[in-house]
Amino acid sequence: MADSGTRPTNFIRKIIDEDLATGKHSQVHTRFPPEPNGYLHIGHAKSIVLNFGIAKDYQGTCNLRFDDTNPLKESIEYVSAIKEDVRWLGYDWQGEPRYSSNYFEALHGFAIELIEKGLAYVDFSSQDDIRAMRGTLTEPGSNSPYRDTDVAVNLAEFAKMTAGEYKEGECSLRAKIDMASPFMCMRDPVIYRVRHVEHHQTGNRWCVYPMYDFTHCISDALEGITHSLCTLEFQDNRRLYDWILDNISIPCHPQQIEFSRLNLEYTVMSKRKLNDLVVEGHVSGWDDPRMPTIAGLRRRGYTPSSIREFAHRIGVTKMDNRVEMSLLESCIRDDLNDNAPRAMAVLEPVKVVIENYPEDKHEMLSAPNHPNREDMGVRELPFSRVLYIEREDFREEANKKFKRLVLGKEVRLRNAYVIKAERVEKNAAGEIETIYCQYDPETLGKDPADGRKVKGVIHWVSVPHAIPAEIRLYDRLFKEATPAGDESLSDSLNPESLVVIEGYVEPSLMDARVEQGFQFERVGYFCRDNKDSVGDKLVFNRTVGLRDSWAKMEAQDN
Ligand code: ATP
Ligand code: MG
Repeated sequence: MADSGTRPTNFIRKIIDEDLATGKHSQVHTRFPPEPNGYLHIGHAKSIVLNFGIAKDYQGTCNLRFDDTNPLKESIEYVSAIKEDVRWLGYDWQGEPRYSSNYFEALHGFAIELIEKGLAYVDFSSQDDIRAMRGTLTEPGSNSPYRDTDVAVNLAEFAKMTAGEYKEGECSLRAKIDMASPFMCMRDPVIYRVRHVEHHQTGNRWCVYPMYDFTHCISDALEGITHSLCTLEFQDNRRLYDWILDNISIPCHPQQIEFSRLNLEYTVMSKRKLNDLVVEGHVSGWDDPRMPTIAGLRRRGYTPSSIREFAHRIGVTKMDNRVEMSLLESCIRDDLNDNAPRAMAVLEPVKVVIENYPEDKHEMLSAPNHPNREDMGVRELPFSRVLYIEREDFREEANKKFKRLVLGKEVRLRNAYVIKAERVEKNAAGEIETIYCQYDPETLGKDPADGRKVKGVIHWVSVPHAIPAEIRLYDRLFKEATPAGDESLSDSLNPESLVVIEGYVEPSLMDARVEQGFQFERVGYFCRDNKDSVGDKLVFNRTVGLRDSWAKMEAQDN
């Protein structure tokens, strides 16, 4: 069931419905096949929700398969992070995680089968020559001089490749298909190459590695996948996917179906570019809360259900598009609005002294954790004579629109009393240091007795009880909706994507669990950082503001 309460339908689910109705399949089997060369990002989440979601809804199964055919860029760190992220999103794969490298033996056998059938040959042309012979979109390619080598010679040469007798780049195994095909991927694609490198799963067992296109379809078939869902850039490669499975002895032939990738405004989505941001030090790591990675979003305070909800709201189509960041933000805002406990924190404090409140008195007030969820209970909130309020919540003079504290006027302190500002004390620089007030002891939880109307409500923290905390105000990583191309990626970064301030939080937040989202009343949604908030040090990350401040800014610009 979708989180929004209705089962999401899309063209892929319609195909599956039909395959089940016609009896083509009795059970659905999908897979999610990341390459372990980086952390998962929100684009992957779209694919995860699609693949695992379909398996769940149709009582089928979904495999997690690491597509690990390029040992140079892959690592175990990424394998572990990917497993953790998929689980955190709320999904579980069938059995053990799979690895394409589990199939290296079988893949090698299928390569030999193609050679034996005269459908693959060892090519000693250089990579440049192979490229030059490929032709163009308008010109057919030309045949390699090695294209018609005898089967027996090809078998012997492939055996030598496999035995490590050739250097990298000296030769490769190519499928013999059609150098004049309108699909470039069908012009005798390389299916095996020499790589003298250690593999994170198979060690030094192999020095030839299968190419992605050859590996992917066979891995799908070996696992009995029914619907192989991938992104649109593989549309042409579907011909190769089908050709390979049609020409080897394998009983299963999954159906490849393509859908459009997720692109998101104000960020980048390719693992290579995200890796650059990490390596060049523009962010603190793959889990920096500004990153569009699952680990980053998690640390920022996104919940698994908000990300699943996002995937449902964007849907699955074949149309290329760029989704507004505000859509992602509204998913977490809606979730936290309903589910996050409320708390109070003052980010830029100014002191209030309530002169008619006894100096040695402290009282425990009771505050609801959520305005309309009684099930979330109440908490104790200490109140005393000296408080912090937000500097911007006070003005010496203001018009009626300013519904906060003004000299000579009243305002309600959230969860507490009505106070009236009497006078201020300033420092030498003319900045207000202290606001002196009077409180009305009859106004706890009720309006003033004589019918005075108090419209404004502000938040506060009791100074003797206030806990200092580092507050990280995160914003969008890029200042442009569509960050510029490769070279100038760092020029597009938003210099204000992270502002760190020292604020004060109410004492109940000392026990905040990491990643638990809170609404700091009137300020925004925050969660305790899952890495740097250790020991006595409290660190809170801003997940998202209370309202869509970007939409407001953009509206003003126009
Ligand atoms: P990247 O360009 O970020 O490296 P990729 O496609 O190379 O992406 P893989 O690890 O190969 O990354 O992807 C695993 C699966 O996730 C694939 O099925 C892929 O189609 C899907 N996927 C990756 N990026 C997106 C995206 N932006 N939107 C939807 N699905 C995606
Ligand atoms: Mg890839």
